[in-house]
Amino acid sequence: MDLNNFEKQIAEITGGGLYSQRIEILQVNLGLQCNQQCLHCHLEASPQRREMMQWPTMELILKAAEQAHCQLIDLTGGAPELNPHFRNFVMAIRQQGHPVQVRTNLTVLLEPGMADLPEFLMEHEVGLVASMPCYLKENVCAQRGEGVYEKSVEAMKRLNALGYGSKPELPLNLVYNPGGPFLPPSQSALEEDYRRELGQRFGITFTRLLTITNMPLGRFRRELDRQNREWEYSRLLRQAFNPETLPGLMCRHQVSIGWDGMLYDCDFNLALGLTVNHGAPDHIKNFKPEELRVRRIVTGDHCFGCTAGSGSSCGGALV
Ligand code: SF4
Ligand code: SF4
Repeated sequence: MDLNNFEKQIAEITGGGLYSQRIEILQVNLGLQCNQQCLHCHLEASPQRREMMQWPTMELILKAAEQAHCQLIDLTGGAPELNPHFRNFVMAIRQQGHPVQVRTNLTVLLEPGMADLPEFLMEHEVGLVASMPCYLKENVCAQRGEGVYEKSVEAMKRLNALGYGSKPELPLNLVYNPGGPFLPPSQSALEEDYRRELGQRFGITFTRLLTITNMPLGRFRRELDRQNREWEYSRLLRQAFNPETLPGLMCRHQVSIGWDGMLYDCDFNLALGLTVNHGAPDHIKNFKPEELRVRRIVTGDHCFGCTAGSGSSCGGALV
């Protein structure tokens, strides 16, 4: 079998391809609609997108979560809160006894019809992972649009008032991603900066900061192309390859499920339309934990985005 550049790089360590180890997390993409339209969005989500997960697919996911004994269901999008079945799905997951976390863009909590959503999330002990690419207004607005900084601050204040970011059962993790084609700085050092700046400016508290590397996909890829910097960024990622990141790669511990029930090794493969392969079932209706647990992962040059420097995953830096 021909190896791609990423597989060639890791062949000496893994003896060939990259394989998953277990299914700790089911990451569920509830749809591509979003109230924002960020410059770096690898899924090209926007208010115009109409792709949305339907309830029968959610029922299959509930069944799969039981079968896989997974430790967390991670809801993402787009803005997952915009799915009309969002609250029923969260309640069903919790009734089944699974922890659930939502990847929120914060501003959606201020949209019409969402006023009681923070209380709903609190009552069901839903963990939150919130995009906040900088503590400075100009950097947030450049990446995510005018007015996003003020709305994000307002949303975080509301969440803090309910105990998010201070009570252990209500984590509020913030996500930083670079404002351009460079690697994130040290996660722990940046977390201290965020704590100081958001604390002093607004009295905001949060649980942890997660740093995530921009993937050369979707809108971010087009922006690189526009600046004629795609090659330079890909070279940076490749040259910063760090073998210590391999054990923690998110694809080795999770399965991503698209809005239409298709299965992917990760959210980035989802963005590229690369479903799980190498003989593993690729749709939730055929979910078989024993076949998916140790599947061979579908990789490509974009995987260098996860292994560069301190590494990158949905849970932040890897080393
Ligand atoms: S990056 Fe997140 S908040 Fe921004 S458009 Fe994409 S899904 Fe929406
Ligand atoms: S891009 Fe996906 S498949 Fe590739 S290393 Fe990262 S998590 Fe794994």
